[in-house]
Order: sequence, then C-alpha cells, then structure tokens
Amino acid sequence: MTASDPSTGPNPGDTGTVRPIVHYGDPVLHRACRPVEDFDDALASLVEDMFASMYAANGVGLAANQIGVDARVFVLDCEDADGERTVAAVVNPVLILPPPPRDLMVGDEGCLSVPGPFTDTPRASTAAVEGFDPAGNPIRIDGTGTLARCLQHETDHLEGTVYVDRLPAKTRKRLLSEAGLR
Ligand SMILES: [Zn+2]
Repeated sequence: MTASDPSTGPNPGDTGTVRPIVHYGDPVLHRACRPVEDFDDALASLVEDMFASMYAANGVGLAANQIGVDARVFVLDCEDADGERTVAAVVNPVLILPPPPRDLMVGDEGCLSVPGPFTDTPRASTAAVEGFDPAGNPIRIDGTGTLARCLQHETDHLEGTVYVDRLPAKTRKRLLSEAGLR
C-alpha cells in the first residue's frame, strides 16, 4: 500500500520552505507549546514549511516546535497497522487514549530531534486525536500501528516531552550520546 500518490493537485509541502530541525536540548522542545488562535495565512504557511521540512528529513511526523515554532501544530504522513496511509496537519490536538488497562505495543521509535538512533518504546496500541485542520474545521484521526505511535509521539512534543524522556535515564543518555547531543 505504498504506491505513489495518485492525486494530481499540489502535494503538501510543495510551496513550503525547508527549515532546520531543532535538536534535543533546545528549550523550545522542553516546554508546552501555545495554542493556535488564528487560522490564517501565517498558519497555512507554517504547515507548508512543516510538511516540506518533514519530507526533506525523511520523517513521518513533525511538531511545530521541532522547527523552533511555539505553536500547537503537528503534521504527519504515515501508515496504520493495515498499511492505510494518513497525511494530515492537526492544530490544537487533544490525544485520546483507550481507558486502562491498555494494550501496549513495543516497537522502534525515533525522532528527527534526536537524529540517528531508534529504540524500542512502549506505546498504547491504539490512539486518536481530535483537533482542527489548518482551515479551522474540526477533525479526528483514529490510529493503530505506526499511526497510533506517531499521534502519541507528536502530541508529546507539543507538551514538551521528547520520546527519550519516557525511557530509563541510562537508555536516554546512550541515545543522546549516539545522536552526538551529549
Ligand atoms: Zn519527534
């Protein structure tokens, strides 16, 4: 299910500018981002830059603070457990997890802000987000597999949490060292 995109219109990010990715340790990654209030041209332009930056870095998801912007927005392009692809930008997302006890999945997780390593990270096996598209329309995304992992990873970013913060200190140190950040 990874055939090339059959759509004929412009693809997300085509008009965007690739911006540098901010790395772990930059304060903008370690505090909660501000809610978006204006669904305006500046937001549309930010979303285009985020898609362009994500694709240029071969990522499957990117939060605004990863390009240094303090705003509750993320973009993603990834597949669920059935190989179904989702491409979306979500503004002011709220993460919805199933009630405990939750089924956990352990799988490889990595982050453009900790470049290089991937490591086993437990996550809820299903997750959803509710929020808005860049035009201000309410949207909801339900995910399994990589999509569920991505929804949790990106909403974490907007709360100031990087995935390595969820891992034991020893593992975190090793990953940051492998990324050349410590
Ligand atoms: Zn990340």
